[in-house]
Amino acid sequence: MFRFANHLSIKTNEGVRLHVSTVSEMTTITISKEDYLKAIAEAEAEGETVIPATLAHWLSVTRPAVTFALKRLIKDALVTVKDDGHILLTAQGREIAERTIVRHHLIERMLTEIFGMGWYEVHDEAERLEHAVSLAFEKKLAQKLGHKNTCPHGNGLTLRSPAERRKRGMLLLTEAEPGLKYTVVSVYERDRKLLEFFDSEGLKPGVKVNVSSRNYDGTVSVSIGTHHIRLGTPAAEKVWISKS
Ligand SMILES: [Zn+2]
Ligand SMILES: [Zn+2]
Repeated sequence: MFRFANHLSIKTNEGVRLHVSTVSEMTTITISKEDYLKAIAEAEAEGETVIPATLAHWLSVTRPAVTFALKRLIKDALVTVKDDGHILLTAQGREIAERTIVRHHLIERMLTEIFGMGWYEVHDEAERLEHAVSLAFEKKLAQKLGHKNTCPHGNGLTLRSPAERRKRGMLLLTEAEPGLKYTVVSVYERDRKLLEFFDSEGLKPGVKVNVSSRNYDGTVSVSIGTHHIRLGTPAAEKVWISKS
């Protein structure tokens, strides 16, 4: 496994932005190739056309860092880049991305199911830990936890695009019909503050929601049990639901 140095500007786990310029520092602060490959697969699944700017935004790294990383990934035949900048995973690149997603799921499940951490706080931990899992540990985790298709946020082991989700009968909470009951299938998991907000309102995968109205101001009024909330579009469009 090789690691990329983010040689210009990176965000550490503590959220501090460091500007790194020397070779010795470069070796200590890294974002792995798995992060890049997974980000490409995940951004595709969100329905985005992946170009270098997508990755810079998605991974909070600079454009030169992305250019540097892409050179390595192309050399290793893990991605191809079209003339218009569109980045595609090769079969091998996709395999690594999918393997990383499996580990990510296992770690999120380990943290919630074994260590009792909140479902809203395990994604960030998993982002860090997924690279440290050996094949042996991965097997142990899978044995211990048993098979499950979804992570604590309801997202599947197989990434699905918005179109694929719709084919399976899912819709966004912003599209819900007033008067109907729905079940929350999954929520967007890359935004910790949003997850904390959902948790404080009792909105999480598996919960039943009654949609009472879609309002003129773009909000949607829902109730979860006896608890009524009014969600703005930025939050409601991050929730996939299905009719229940
Ligand atoms: Zn996650
Ligand atoms: Zn998750």
